[in-house]
Amino acid sequence: MKTILVTGGTGFLGSNLCIRLINEGNNVICVDNNYTGRLSNIQKIMKHPNFRFIKHDICEPLVVDAKLDQIYNMACPASPPAYQGSYSIKTTKTCVLGAINMLDLAKLHHATILQTSTSEIYGEPLVHPQVESYRGNVNPIGIRACYDEGKRCAESLFFDYHRHEGVDIKVVRIFNTYGPNMDPNDGRVVSNFICQALSGQDITIYGDGHQTRSFCFVDDLIEVLIRMMNSEKGFTGPINIGNPGEFTIKELAEMVVAKVGGSSKVVYEDLPSDDPTQRRPDITLAKTKLGWEPKVKLSEGLDKTIAYFKTQINQFKKVA
Ligand code: UDP
Repeated sequence: MKTILVTGGTGFLGSNLCIRLINEGNNVICVDNNYTGRLSNIQKIMKHPNFRFIKHDICEPLVVDAKLDQIYNMACPASPPAYQGSYSIKTTKTCVLGAINMLDLAKLHHATILQTSTSEIYGEPLVHPQVESYRGNVNPIGIRACYDEGKRCAESLFFDYHRHEGVDIKVVRIFNTYGPNMDPNDGRVVSNFICQALSGQDITIYGDGHQTRSFCFVDDLIEVLIRMMNSEKGFTGPINIGNPGEFTIKELAEMVVAKVGGSSKVVYEDLPSDDPTQRRPDITLAKTKLGWEPKVKLSEGLDKTIAYFKTQINQFKKVA
């Protein structure tokens, strides 16, 4: 039995990870300031004897009484409307100060620490599909920069703590992921399209809908996070994790409308600035080093996600 700390543990990915780690018999300490996370995501494990929730903002140092074996650093607003809105400065602080505080904690406990970095570090990619060696094309002063540059800086902190402080690090770059425990008001494309279709609202495609993304179902993602954390010592990554199936946003809208039915029509709105034109992970490294590849096809994952959002639809507010 390991003692594992998960920052961002009430968020979409963090809560799914906490539930899986509890089900596998670990002690789990979930840390979140609940800015974008939701306690309802961890309701079913809240009273489990091996589970503890600490309300804490990782921009501040954290003292933990138990001896930690592993830390998953997942805390950060991740949806563009959140980090481009009132949380922009907070996003950079969470990436940078949060990484420093959690790396110091890992050093103190001699714990392995995994950083959930992002495909956003590639910015508007000029190499397609994206390989880990690609250094990216980020606008440092754009509206996405707080997230992209924050996560890039966190990666550099992780590697400096590894080189100079001997901290055992793992870095994953997560591509678009969807599934149960997403906030209906997250503002991302999968949650928006499904909730719009379920509530009979217009489906909002930004731009012409020809931009692409590759969507990974959450269960596949959690599986590879755990594999990476427990991979051979010294294997640091960075490693791309995501589903290489690539779809245009228009195709996604058509799939959702076909599955949900109803009267929604598709409307086209302005594309936000710096919105990447295409994105697809090259997952060769994850396949060879971790023996992992995603199993859940988009169609199957969408069915499960639609079933989940049906339970949440009363909380969905109209997209502005
Ligand atoms: N998008 C869209 N309609 C929406 C929300 C998003 O067309 O209601 C587009 C968005 O402009 C982007 C793609 O869908 O091109 C994926 O957006 P999301 O916010 O889900 O993720 P990210 O931009 O971080 O990849």
